Amino acid sequence: MSAPLIGHHIHGHPTAGHSARKQAVTNPATGAVAAQVALGDSEDVRQAVAAAQAAFPAWADAPPLRRARVMFKFLELLNQHKDALAHAITAEHGKVFTDAQGEVARGIDIVEFATGIPQLLKGDYTEQVSTGIDNWTLRQPLGVVAGITPFNFPVMVPMWMFPVAIAAGNTFVLKPSPIDPTPALMMADLLKQAGLPDGVFNVVQGDKEAVDALLVHPDVKAVSFVGSTPIANYIYETGAHHGKRVQALGGAKNHMVVMPDADLDQVVDALIGAAYGSAGERCMAISVAVLVGDVADKVIPKLIARTQTLKVLNGENLAAEMGPIVTQAAHDRITGYIAQGEKEGARLLVDGRGFKGASAGAGCDNGFWMGGTLFDHVTTDMTIYKEEIFGPVLACVRVPDFATAVQIINDHEFGNGVSCFTRDGNVAREFSRRIQVGMVGINVPIPVPMAWHGFGGWKRSLFGDMHAYGEEGVRFYTKQKSIMQRWPESTPKGAEFVMPTST
Ligand code: NAD
Repeated sequence: MSAPLIGHHIHGHPTAGHSARKQAVTNPATGAVAAQVALGDSEDVRQAVAAAQAAFPAWADAPPLRRARVMFKFLELLNQHKDALAHAITAEHGKVFTDAQGEVARGIDIVEFATGIPQLLKGDYTEQVSTGIDNWTLRQPLGVVAGITPFNFPVMVPMWMFPVAIAAGNTFVLKPSPIDPTPALMMADLLKQAGLPDGVFNVVQGDKEAVDALLVHPDVKAVSFVGSTPIANYIYETGAHHGKRVQALGGAKNHMVVMPDADLDQVVDALIGAAYGSAGERCMAISVAVLVGDVADKVIPKLIARTQTLKVLNGENLAAEMGPIVTQAAHDRITGYIAQGEKEGARLLVDGRGFKGASAGAGCDNGFWMGGTLFDHVTTDMTIYKEEIFGPVLACVRVPDFATAVQIINDHEFGNGVSCFTRDGNVAREFSRRIQVGMVGINVPIPVPMAWHGFGGWKRSLFGDMHAYGEEGVRFYTKQKSIMQRWPESTPKGAEFVMPTST
């Protein structure tokens, strides 16, 4: 029997689309091909954008409260189907089921935020800016907006985008990762059940071909992207060149500074969870431990013991702490980095390359498995320090003092997330103020901001001016209009030739 085809969702309906190109969708735990996903072409994109463009006037015209009510209904349906979504994530991405549930929950947070859109769109008003004149500002939707999302959060990252965009009155075309395409279609179905008019939310599956068609389409007014830095940079430049508003969130190399006064048991728990959770395939994963002063000799033996006893199992097993790597290509990339780290002189304390799929559960022999890897004595000139590995590899860097810790982080090209573990309030305060990173945790390893605060890194972790979701998201998906109004008295004043001032 041939593998089923995962298609697009255009104008409220599933469609196989026009393109003959396809890609295998694989269960990373078993290596088995579960389906084929259609790779959309410019005609598929044209149809999705046309559907979204046709739906825009009526949707933009709907009172914000009515749009919010669709979001409330969507929220209810998401809560009913959250485990089904989590299972779909585990089947195509591989992350452990409990972590997938957490991903869905963090997406639901954004939908809850979007239900407050009437309040968020409330404008400003100044009475009597000049005699008989009032001035106010309001925010209006942009039109058709596109979201291009990575494999590692197939539910949460699209939900950083479309709930806010749609609630604000835009219509949306989502281009998810072809690696795990099913959750996008499940969300499209739930939105339709929630009463969202056809065409307001569309999904085009695909790769670069579909992305490029979105980037040049004149009716796409804004593009939100999340993925790796080279592609983020490309999306930003190409989208801007074609006159679009763009926010493009890129890759990361997140450090966790451990001060000598920190609670070391908390530190070890934090490092193990943040480095190996989701097999390190999170843009907020901690991939560098910066061990200050004499802390390394105390922490490293505990890290070795915990890394060696990680429960690496099929993600459907509720005892699992870490699942497989997403694809064979990603597995090859990560093992290549481990070899490079050894070659450049880092000390390999735990080598995850020897892990065998058979020990992850029945049927896992051909999956993309590895264990946690731990390096010590990593230095800032090494490839494994400079580049994003995006796998379960933790690099320990030893530094003499706090100032050096801050300096190496500020010198790094990425600036997504960072964390500092200490018991000293002044150190924590200085760290938060001086660090050149967009999201900071104090004794919190993965400081992903809540729905109303907005998400975004600095430096080459974000291209564009505005962070995702929160009030920044509302600003990104709307344009400000200022209205100045006078109702003239019956006696005409004649033409005025000087700049109006407050008289
Ligand atoms: P990716 O850059 O390979 O793909 C992201 C999206 O871009 C996908 O939809 C993909 O189909 C598309 N794409 C890939 N190559 C393209 C090309 N040449 N031209 C146009 N489009 C292209 O990223 P990924 O491997 O899916 O995800 C992992 C990366 O995402 C990591 O670098 C991670 O740090 C990053 N990420 C960042 C954040 C953040 O908030 N900063 C969040 C999640 C993931």
